[in-house]
Amino acid sequence: MNISEVLSNKIESNQTVLTEFESKELLQEIGISIPSQRLTTSIDETISAAEEIGFPLVLKLIAEDIVHKSDTGAVKLNIKDKHELEAAYKDLMNLPSQKEKKISVQKMADEPITELIIGMTTDAQFGPALMFGIGGILVELLEDVSFRIAPITEYDAKEMIHEIKGFPILDGYRGKPKADIDAIVNVLLKVSDFVIKHEEINEMDLNPVFIYEKGLICVDARIILKKK
Ligand code: ADP
Ligand code: MG
Repeated sequence: MNISEVLSNKIESNQTVLTEFESKELLQEIGISIPSQRLTTSIDETISAAEEIGFPLVLKLIAEDIVHKSDTGAVKLNIKDKHELEAAYKDLMNLPSQKEKKISVQKMADEPITELIIGMTTDAQFGPALMFGIGGILVELLEDVSFRIAPITEYDAKEMIHEIKGFPILDGYRGKPKADIDAIVNVLLKVSDFVIKHEEINEMDLNPVFIYEKGLICVDARIILKKK
């Protein structure tokens, strides 16, 4: 995949908000792990994708006008067999959308220690800014996040992780295993490198990233490009 070419084609066709599927394909390309995923448009394709990937699965409706998928019922978690798959497919295809509807068939990721949020926004003065936080109420209510202007060093990434108030959650809080901090550092550096290399990126949102004792996986992402 030639990433620059993919991005410039999107901008040329005025599709500056990449879908979850497209965004995660790009993340995979830069070495960030994502659940196996296939994009389908019929029940037959969905069934064969499910057979390839294996249960348990997640089905999501992918359409350009659906942004907050779970708010509109567009995410079906923990699908365990073909019967549940068919029911989920039907429900999703019945949701209202003015745009072309596709289904993302993806592997259901294991329960994490916690969910993380990693983001990038473009500051008018300083350019690309990276954001890190622990998902859920810590980000939504308490705004417990850290920021750095890109590019960042390994030292900056470690500081971003350690300076949030919720850090103990990553450090073996209440008998839970310690999260793989090196894996988070690695993703922050990859995102930093990616946005520095590709100035056409305006915003990125990896939300959530599931963190484990060993490794992590990004289960939802959105990349927004600058308009031409
Ligand atoms: P939204 O557009 O509403 O943010 P998400 O794709 O983030 O939708 O899905 C909602 C929630 O479902 C996520 O926050 C995560 O907890 C869970 N989820 C999504 N995809 C997966 C997956 N592949 N495996 C496990 N859980 C998932
Ligand atoms: Mg999400």
